[in-house]
Amino acid sequence: MSVTDTEVLIIGAGGAGTSAALHLAQRGVPCVLLERGLVGGQASGVNYGGVRQQGRHPAELPIARRSMALWHRLVEIAGTDAEFTVSGHLKLARTPEEEAELVAYLDVARAYDLPLRLVGRNALHVDYPWLGPKVIAGSLAPEDGAANPRLLVPALARAARAAGAVIEEHAKVTELAFDGTLFQVAAGERRWRAAWLLNTAGFWGGTVAAAFDEAVPVQPLSPNMMVTEPIRYFIEPNLGVVGGNVYLRQIPRGNVIIGGGHGVSDPAVPWSRPAAEETRAAMALATALVPSLAGACVIRSWSGIDGEMPDHIPVIGPSRTTPRLIHAFGFSGHGFQLGPGVGAILSELVLDGATDVPLAPFDIGRWTARAA
Ligand SMILES: Cc1cc2nc3c(=O)[nH]c(=O)nc-3n(C[C@H](O)[C@H](O)[C@H](O)COP(=O)(O)OP(=O)(O)OC[C@H]3O[C@@H](n4cnc5c(N)ncnc54)[C@H](O)[C@@H]3O)c2cc1C
Repeated sequence: MSVTDTEVLIIGAGGAGTSAALHLAQRGVPCVLLERGLVGGQASGVNYGGVRQQGRHPAELPIARRSMALWHRLVEIAGTDAEFTVSGHLKLARTPEEEAELVAYLDVARAYDLPLRLVGRNALHVDYPWLGPKVIAGSLAPEDGAANPRLLVPALARAARAAGAVIEEHAKVTELAFDGTLFQVAAGERRWRAAWLLNTAGFWGGTVAAAFDEAVPVQPLSPNMMVTEPIRYFIEPNLGVVGGNVYLRQIPRGNVIIGGGHGVSDPAVPWSRPAAEETRAAMALATALVPSLAGACVIRSWSGIDGEMPDHIPVIGPSRTTPRLIHAFGFSGHGFQLGPGVGAILSELVLDGATDVPLAPFDIGRWTARAA
């Protein structure tokens, strides 16, 4: 059986994996990206489309800031803007306790140079007269926005291929080994060998890590999503709430995309589907925020599968068991915005042995027995 040699093997063509392939190929490094299905076919292609920095765990903000700079250069990098729109992200409070959380996050934002301003009740209802009376405060991150998840990863993949990366679809990695020098990977009858291995397999990154004696407590996360028929365009910002039980955004064509609650999924197949009762509950929460959504017809609902870590932040960084294995998975429902930046960071870990973003909080060692 023939074996193909390359320098870097990447498992999983979501946002992280395709961006890594692009950044490596741009620096002239031979790399092969193996994807079980189609590029962007899992979480990176079916998510809500929020390109949000506000509300992130402080440890994620340096990556989010780094990634945002790449989002702004998408046309140059990937030949499309993926419908990325800087609409602002408005996070809403419905109780005094929620308002206190918004106020507390201002300090976090300031520490990471994230522009954020509190909007009090009166100003909020003047600026956004379509908000319901239960909303008592908001915080606006003017740099944040949204994009079309269907467009990002295929565009990154096209750019990566143009730069020289090899991307194999319908290539489910079934065998993984490291002989002390090289990784050996098989997908069906096909085999590859490489000095480096990047684990960007999303939820299934846990399976890849476990193959190298680094089992982690990653769980499937399946946010419940829906979209309405097109209605008059009036909701400019991407809307969230403290606690995250509902979020919504409107695209200029008029459709309103709404998330809230959880669907059901089986990552072993894999499949995912929305749950009707969660869809109804999210619609009720959405109409409490924006009463004029009452009566808007939902034309489609869906879900997807991401990997959720117990502390809700991903695993990013070198393996503790295996040299030249680097993980980036378990983005816990908020890795779409991070994807472009994570790929750049992975390429730097391979080529420069370091990156300027602090990765200690994402160390896989926080879960594995071999933690220092
Ligand atoms: C419904 C939903 C809504 C979301 N909304 C948002 C949002 O608004 N904003 C935000 O920032 N984030 C959001 N997220 C989270 C975000 O989509 C994910 O965190 C991010 O896309 C994960 O990217 P990834 O590259 O790690 O994984 P994925 O996109 O899942 O890519 C991993 C790839 O690895 C492949 N793979 C797995 N195993 C193998 C194997 N053995 N061999 C070959 N290939 C393999 C998979 O097929 C998959 O294509 C949402 C997620 C979901 C599901």
